[in-house]
Amino acid sequence: MVPEAPTPEPVLPDPVLPDPVLPDLVLPDPVLIVLVGASGSGKSTWAASRFRAAEVVSSDTLRGLVGSGPHDLDASPDAFTLLEHIVQARLARTLTTVVDTLGTDPTRRRRWLDLARGAGLPAVVVVLDTPAAVCRSRNAARERAVPARVLTSQLASVTGTVPALADEGWDHVHHVRPDADADAAPPAPARAGTTPRAEGPDLQGLRGVVLQLSRFPADGALLPWVTQMALAAEAAGLAGLALMDHLVQIPQVGRAWDPIPEPWVTLGSLAAVTTRLQLGTLVTPITFRAPGVTAKAAATLSALSGGRSFVGLGAGWWDREHAAYGLAFPGARERLDALEAGIETMRALWAPGTKPYAGRLVSLPETTCYPRPVGSMPVLVGGSGERTLRIAATLGDGCNVPSDEAGLARLDRYLELVREHGRDPGEVHATVLDLPVVGRDRDDAWARVERHRGRTPTAAFAARHHAGTPAEHRERLARLAGRGVTTAFVAPVGLATPEDVLALAPLATAFG
Ligand code: GDP
Ligand code: MG
Repeated sequence: MVPEAPTPEPVLPDPVLPDPVLPDLVLPDPVLIVLVGASGSGKSTWAASRFRAAEVVSSDTLRGLVGSGPHDLDASPDAFTLLEHIVQARLARTLTTVVDTLGTDPTRRRRWLDLARGAGLPAVVVVLDTPAAVCRSRNAARERAVPARVLTSQLASVTGTVPALADEGWDHVHHVRPDADADAAPPAPARAGTTPRAEGPDLQGLRGVVLQLSRFPADGALLPWVTQMALAAEAAGLAGLALMDHLVQIPQVGRAWDPIPEPWVTLGSLAAVTTRLQLGTLVTPITFRAPGVTAKAAATLSALSGGRSFVGLGAGWWDREHAAYGLAFPGARERLDALEAGIETMRALWAPGTKPYAGRLVSLPETTCYPRPVGSMPVLVGGSGERTLRIAATLGDGCNVPSDEAGLARLDRYLELVREHGRDPGEVHATVLDLPVVGRDRDDAWARVERHRGRTPTAAFAARHHAGTPAEHRERLARLAGRGVTTAFVAPVGLATPEDVLALAPLATAFG
């Protein structure tokens, strides 16, 4: 058996995890914060990543309470009556209050400022200066988009509001341009005839932290959920996003009836909404699809994403999903043979031209595969058995092993094999799968351990998952980088919300 990864105990959905990290702005506390920005500018995301849910008073949320939903405009008068009442009551108790509305009504701003002054609280405006085109595209990606003309008038009134703020008496007016790079236009597709050919691995692209999604607690709204998780990964500065490739949810992660979407289809949808993330599987069992078909899917993803795809490959291990889907599940030796031949097939199909291919294990009468991958197509081989590592070292561009001590020992072995085969260890991806418990502070990390440990003793579970704060995980990953790891595929225990992903931002720089 070739295990693709150690997997966590069965885990349950997790509530929102506010991000305690304030790299750009140190705010007083308690404080009144008034947000200003159009729909899709990122107000609620900004607030949720920094404040407890109870501290954020949102007109959308209140419309959802007194009306049919957050977008029920008929409920606005009632929602704003409540909002004013809540803001007043909180400020009178000197509780930190974040007012999440468009923020463009000067009369309301005046009233909130006066209430803060009356309570002796500092008062700050935070303007989300997100470019109009970004607001529009985020808005369009939403399940219920604001009509385009409404968004246009919101953007105009935000523009009109900004100059007025300076004279209103706020302690500070802070401007946030949320991660402008992440929303930049995707690279122009390469034109026919100029398409770069698949070359060696793009080491820079995959270097860093790649979010691995293994659970999909999307509550029936899969596309908005995966979209938001991917956008949050981009905003957090992560290098990529990887999906498990399983036909049935595996018992180490969830229940058999939990959703586990087909990864290549799902990654195709993410190619459309992201601009920087590397996208791929961790890992695709060679037994699921003929290797040429996987090569086709990966090449298509590369073309769709402007060269941001990679392929994780393994020998497969779970007999049940094979039986359930009518797939053959031969013995380990045969599966590893298939893995070896499969990589050869894929590389033949990704190479330039259409000529016949006659290799060590595979012969093909022609290699016509268009669209071709754009740029490189890293192949990462998952598993830590000796033969698997040998395949990774000879045919692959990288390996993937567990991030524990035993896994790191196998990583050393992999690098040794790479050298033995006359390859430069500086040109391969030495990757680990990491399953951390990430808490905003010690208390929260501990609470998460308690929530997810099942019957495993607390201390053992905490140690196995390195329970700690983002800063502690960053230190740990930096130590792994010092041991030769280039990429950590990170699958936080209980990951459920975009806020959970944003909390990983401090980890993004651990690999330099
Ligand atoms: P609001 O309408 O101003 O409250 O905007 P939201 O906070 O709901 O954000 C709108 C969309 O943009 C959501 O899908 C967020 O996940 C996404 N988003 C928010 N902030 C950022 C950011 O800094 N970077 C990226 N890439 N996406 C963001
Ligand atoms: Mg909002």
